[in-house]
Amino acid sequence: MDSSNLIQLHKCGAYPIIEGTGCHQMFFPVELLETALQNGESTAWMCDTPVLSGSGDPYIAITHVWSDGTGMGADNTHTVNACLFQYFAKLGNRLNCNALWWDAISVPKEPKARRLALNNMHENYANAEYTIIHDTYLVNFPWSDDGSPCIAMILSTWFTRGWTALELFMSKKVLVLFKDPAGGCEPLMKDLDDEILAQSPATSSPAHWLATTLIRRLRRPIDNVGDLLAALSTRSTSWVRDRTIISALLAQVPDCDLAAGESIIATQVLGHLGQIPHNCLFHGKPTMRDSGPWSWCPATLHDMPVDTAPDLGDSGDDSLKIKGDGSVEGKWRCRKLDADDVANMKPYGDNLAAAMKIESALGRWEGCLLLRHPRDGQGNLALLVWLTSINLEAGMLECRYIGTVVVASSSTALREGMVHGFSNPMWSVRIGGKVYN
Ligand SMILES: [Zn+2]
Repeated sequence: MDSSNLIQLHKCGAYPIIEGTGCHQMFFPVELLETALQNGESTAWMCDTPVLSGSGDPYIAITHVWSDGTGMGADNTHTVNACLFQYFAKLGNRLNCNALWWDAISVPKEPKARRLALNNMHENYANAEYTIIHDTYLVNFPWSDDGSPCIAMILSTWFTRGWTALELFMSKKVLVLFKDPAGGCEPLMKDLDDEILAQSPATSSPAHWLATTLIRRLRRPIDNVGDLLAALSTRSTSWVRDRTIISALLAQVPDCDLAAGESIIATQVLGHLGQIPHNCLFHGKPTMRDSGPWSWCPATLHDMPVDTAPDLGDSGDDSLKIKGDGSVEGKWRCRKLDADDVANMKPYGDNLAAAMKIESALGRWEGCLLLRHPRDGQGNLALLVWLTSINLEAGMLECRYIGTVVVASSSTALREGMVHGFSNPMWSVRIGGKVYN
């Protein structure tokens, strides 16, 4: 949906203070934003007058979805409905903050300044005293102590967007607006960590605990690819490229060049995180490169499969290590192929290029190896790789990535102890280390 064509939301009558004053348009001199950005100054506005705040002024930051009409209006100017601004400003006043950061008026229009502002937008949430989540569904959801507001959060539109994930991740203190069940005209502000999330599985319903787990994933540093993909997999952005940028910001990649190509950003994210679950290699997609560094990696991060089970907590030890040279290293159960295997396997997925690479390799199956997840975690999927050398001293197999195959369930590939030709069924394998012709 093109949410930039929406009509801006009105909150006329939401508060007694503006009743009867009629609604008008408030104008913000947004040309001040460009200078402020250049000088590294605040782009929050004072709550009581259209003047930019000073760096010492405590401010609240609004996180919202544009489809609610809480973004810029259809005319794309920086005038906003006075009632909507006052609604947010009043929240600031209730929290003893005298300024407000809201992207509809805090991000400049001029393209170059706008790019600069968007790339640093997450910092406005990190530096805010409070981040306020405004979502029309939640604002109309009556607050209750039974855990239902937490479940409502993960069902809300707000929770489906990529940028809001980053905003939540960056924020210190997060308050969510809910309807006052007692009928008060002001929304209730509930603290996410203390009042909304469940504190223990023993004292909450299973649904409340699951919702808590999904939200908490974004309340702590992300240090592995699995968590990063899980956080973003169900979220959408208006621009595909934004997903890669959000990944880099969530992973807190130092000095990441956000203007670079998507695959370059992706390798920076992966290199920074340094480890990856085995299942991410079972993707059935074309890879970033044909051979050598990153030749096991799909062209974009979101082509990787996601482990949707939240917080298993065991990803650390048996993850694969991503090396600085773009190779990936770790334990696999592996064995050589035999002639029967070729008839018993087919390429995984429906990508033609990925399938052709597998078909062509199977024509020379004698040089191939089949790799299986060490704990047999991938059903009947296996990785097909080309064995390029064996380092017996290090117990390391050097391999070239070919692709993911589906193995017929009757095949020996699915049996334990796949040892044909090797004395050790579990080998350290390095994939994509060097360029081989
Ligand atoms: Zn209004």
